[in-house]
Amino acid sequence: MAIAPVILADADNTLWDTDSVFAQAQLGLLADVDRLFDPQDRVDPLGHIRAYDQALAKIDHRHLRYPPHLLVRALALGNRGHGPGEAARLTGSERTIANVAGAEEAIVERYFEALGRGPELLNGVVDGLVAARDAGFDVWILTEGSADRQRARAATLGITHLVKGVSECTKSIEQFDRQRRRFAPAPVFVIGDQPDRDILPAQTGGCTGVLVPSGFRPGWIGAAAWDAADYVADRFDRAIDWIIATTAPSRAAAE
Ligand SMILES: [Mg+2]
Repeated sequence: MAIAPVILADADNTLWDTDSVFAQAQLGLLADVDRLFDPQDRVDPLGHIRAYDQALAKIDHRHLRYPPHLLVRALALGNRGHGPGEAARLTGSERTIANVAGAEEAIVERYFEALGRGPELLNGVVDGLVAARDAGFDVWILTEGSADRQRARAATLGITHLVKGVSECTKSIEQFDRQRRRFAPAPVFVIGDQPDRDILPAQTGGCTGVLVPSGFRPGWIGAAAWDAADYVADRFDRAIDWIIATTAPSRAAAE
């Protein structure tokens, strides 16, 4: 009997475009902050925000989950001439600047409202899921967050019938090793957009790592990490095509 591979697909920025939702919300937040100061002529507003965002994530123990009022304060300090690293440090030690204090709550509220808008599926996801189904592969959505939330998201986006289920799992070497043993003897392929979180621990845990890089490339990931995957595809369906092609000989031999 043929042993079909099992595919574990990361959700955010692999199946759906969470990055764009964040980008829109962050651009709105910057515009709100900028309105409190003299008009700014920004060449790369998103790059500007992300520099402050990453500086905060770097020093906050909650990492990217730091509370967004800190970003409001850091961007306000940016308007006062402080660079990202300095502004991030000052948000921890100083109160917000006077003209931002009264607006902070409303800005954060609008930001959360914008984040509440659902993401769209990324290009090639439906084609890839259909190809995997037609090849007889099970695709699981892998998430570190709430499985219920991702299940609801998959339903809203109309892909529930194309996936086997949602698996809640910390992206650690141990957990990927567990997933590998859970599905053995089927080989496990992990598709994700972040080399440090999705690919490296999966590979070390004995899975094959297929990277579909998203636009979100945090500065703390070294350049070499982007080439360490077993395969790099520019779209989800091309990742599936590669898995189909790479497993075809062994499946043929097993038949
Ligand atoms: Mg992701």
